[in-house]
Amino acid sequence: MSDLGAERHAVVIGAGLAGAAVTHALALRGWSITLIERGERLASGASDLPVGVLSPHRTAQPTPMSRLTALGLPVTKAHLQQYLPDGRGWHATQIANCVAADGGDTVSVVDHDDACIVVPAALIAAWIGDAQRVSQITIRTGCAVGAIEALTPLQTDSVGAPRWRVLDRDRATICDATHVVVCAAFDSAALLPNAPLGLRPVAGQMTMGAVVTRHKQKQDTTNVEPTQIPKRLSGVFVPYFDTPRGAVWSIGATYRRGDDDCRPRTEDREHNADLLRRLAPEARDEWETHANAGTLIDWVGVRCASIDRLPLVGALPLATPSPVDPSLRRAQVKTAPGLFGLMALGSRGLSLAPLLGMVLADQMCGEAHADTPALLPPDLMDAIDPRRAPLQEARQAVRKMTRRTRTT
Ligand SMILES: Cc1cc2nc3c(=O)[nH]c(=O)nc-3n(C[C@H](O)[C@H](O)[C@H](O)COP(=O)(O)OP(=O)(O)OC[C@H]3O[C@@H](n4cnc5c(N)ncnc54)[C@H](O)[C@@H]3O)c2cc1C
Repeated sequence: MSDLGAERHAVVIGAGLAGAAVTHALALRGWSITLIERGERLASGASDLPVGVLSPHRTAQPTPMSRLTALGLPVTKAHLQQYLPDGRGWHATQIANCVAADGGDTVSVVDHDDACIVVPAALIAAWIGDAQRVSQITIRTGCAVGAIEALTPLQTDSVGAPRWRVLDRDRATICDATHVVVCAAFDSAALLPNAPLGLRPVAGQMTMGAVVTRHKQKQDTTNVEPTQIPKRLSGVFVPYFDTPRGAVWSIGATYRRGDDDCRPRTEDREHNADLLRRLAPEARDEWETHANAGTLIDWVGVRCASIDRLPLVGALPLATPSPVDPSLRRAQVKTAPGLFGLMALGSRGLSLAPLLGMVLADQMCGEAHADTPALLPPDLMDAIDPRRAPLQEARQAVRKMTRRTRTT
């Protein structure tokens, strides 16, 4: 265990893919957890995503994100098989990668990847159920955290175990603990006001419709009909997916960078209609039928991204009243003992959360657990270290200031 004392109890804030993954990983390592969620149920934020795609992140050359995704994908797949064994809430499939031709109007398939279509909330419920089987998990839904405060003055070089108090928006104490894990996606920024993490919201909209009866066909995961294979261009068309609320098709999603507004927009629906026209012209009738009947469903969620679009995983930087000196090295940025985070999963929550939940749990325990597939290589651990964020934010501020000075 780390130098934070022997208490194996943590408060986890946010019950999306990130919070549920770390709750599960810590429970398997013998920790008790208080899981606090603002929404009335688990998976109330982006992880409420009705149709999620788990697939490789393709790049011309390996990047930290493509390598993280390649390591994370088999972990998620193993979790789906283990915790949702009857396939409820997910199925394996192929995904056809497409490129645009003829000025972008038509597309052609270049190759296929192994993929899964997943309801993230099903995996989250299964993780929490398993965590409750092995450990004590207290769930507080409908409870918005307003602040996290140190109970005693923080000494980063002390070996003692400082305590943190978690307060609601009326400043009433919800609970206190030596370990707090912030998994509140973009809203984490408001909980850590003096520890600039450079978090950005990216709202996105997908459009769905119930599969009409004449097209209904139970998904056979071993022998997928060519017309049932999802297609990917700038978004994904999923022609058929059995959700707990019935079979649906889905198209999207859009990217509204810097936007955390969850209201559906007409222009985003039109964007999805255009993508569908290019990816699957044969499905346009179905779109029109739903559009005329007013039964198209738009789902909007807010992704959370960091400045370099990589996740933030580990001990969080110590809040400081003045900005961090941009000339510092990452290792010189002090961390707040006992305060951890798993956030900025961007569009890759399904590929990354299970692996990174284990990585963070191992960090908090100070040792690797038998379940952890393989340690991340040191350069990837550096790439996801939250201490880089205040430095990137400070350097970005310097660059902006320099540009402004040059133009005036
Ligand atoms: C349109 C769209 C399409 C996407 N498609 C895919 C896809 O195909 N594949 C994929 O892998 N990913 C996809 N994603 C991304 C994926 O949804 C996210 O990466 C993932 O859900 C992030 O999980 P999270 O736990 O970090 O955040 P969230 O799920 O947002 O969880 C954060 C939780 O914290 C809670 N919270 C916030 N503030 C507080 C507070 N003060 N107190 C208590 N609780 C709080 C929220 O209510 C929320 O439940 C998509 C996202 C969008 C928006």
